Amino acid sequence: MTEVAWNPLSAAPAYPAERYAALASRIGTILKTNNDILLVQAEAVVALEAVATSLSRPGLSALNVITSPYGGWFGQWLRRGGANVADVVARPSLPIDAKAIAAALDADPRIAVLALVHAESASGILNPLPEIIALARARGIVTVVDAVASVGGHALDVSGSGIDIAVIGPQKALGGPAGVSALSVSPRAWELILRDGAPRDSILSLADLKTWVDGGRGALPGTPAPLEFFALEAALHRVEAEGIDRIVARHQRAASANRAGLLALGASLWVPDEQASNLVTTVSVPEGVEPASLIGLTASLGIELTAGVGTGSSHLIRLNHTGPRAAFQTVLANVVGYGLGLRRAGLPADIGAASEAVAKAYSD
Ligand SMILES: *Cc1c(COP(=O)(O)O)cnc(C)c1O
Repeated sequence: MTEVAWNPLSAAPAYPAERYAALASRIGTILKTNNDILLVQAEAVVALEAVATSLSRPGLSALNVITSPYGGWFGQWLRRGGANVADVVARPSLPIDAKAIAAALDADPRIAVLALVHAESASGILNPLPEIIALARARGIVTVVDAVASVGGHALDVSGSGIDIAVIGPQKALGGPAGVSALSVSPRAWELILRDGAPRDSILSLADLKTWVDGGRGALPGTPAPLEFFALEAALHRVEAEGIDRIVARHQRAASANRAGLLALGASLWVPDEQASNLVTTVSVPEGVEPASLIGLTASLGIELTAGVGTGSSHLIRLNHTGPRAAFQTVLANVVGYGLGLRRAGLPADIGAASEAVAKAYSD
């Protein structure tokens, strides 16, 4: 007879019912808000689809900002629910201009919802979130922010800046699990969601998820996946031990070291500092070089270089410094490795100066 060994992965104990409320509160602290925090038992794209599905209905007008495929999907989900959606599309792989938002809001006073992504891993850009939130607030518009990539990489003060709905996932800058996500919902956003016709009895229904808050935040409904919640708890523990503001500072330093290193190498950065995300740094590859072949030339180094994603990205390469990768050793290896790729392609690269620049950025 074969012994069946106990397997900690397939036979994990249930996540303790009384600890879900604490998880939600700890996420609220990270987001700097007392708004309701909902836990979604799925990756963050599902939480985003739930927000769009729960807000949308015939008669609602929304302005949807598109700076990557995520914004495109959000607009589709809103339309599917019957909302009247105007898209504002940024130039390929670039941030949106707050002036374009102001013009679109002025053009249609019925707009009640504004949705955008904070920072993009897809192209390495940062949208001007504070300006855009201020424009929406001045007009009483409910704001939805996809902060999945940005939380931990950029300062995010949900209540201070007045973001009505912020969606996050632990799997990017926070370095946590991918199978669970969360969102904060302000009282104003609840009003809009709970008007007549709120979708119910659906995995995408925020009104359904609210019953967990209203019922005293005990066990989550259904059969929650214990491993994901134990992993989330461990990730929050690490985040709290380091401190959210220090995590953001670590990403800022990784980004500035990366940018200084690439400039010293002789590379051209895709966007100026104030438009750049702290998550990935995007470089424009030299004329006549294919990003895929350059990435191929560095494959043996085991570094974090990837092609850009989405329209306008055909000449871009991303150097990843998100989460645990926002660290000296990764930044140095990526910059030097990119330089080595350029040399292997027969192009000049001042690897010595690049290393100096990265060292300087980490010297204090
Ligand atoms: C990663 C990411 C998501 C979520 O994608 P997952 O498939 O859940 O990892 C959503 N929005 C943005 C901006 C992201 O970078």
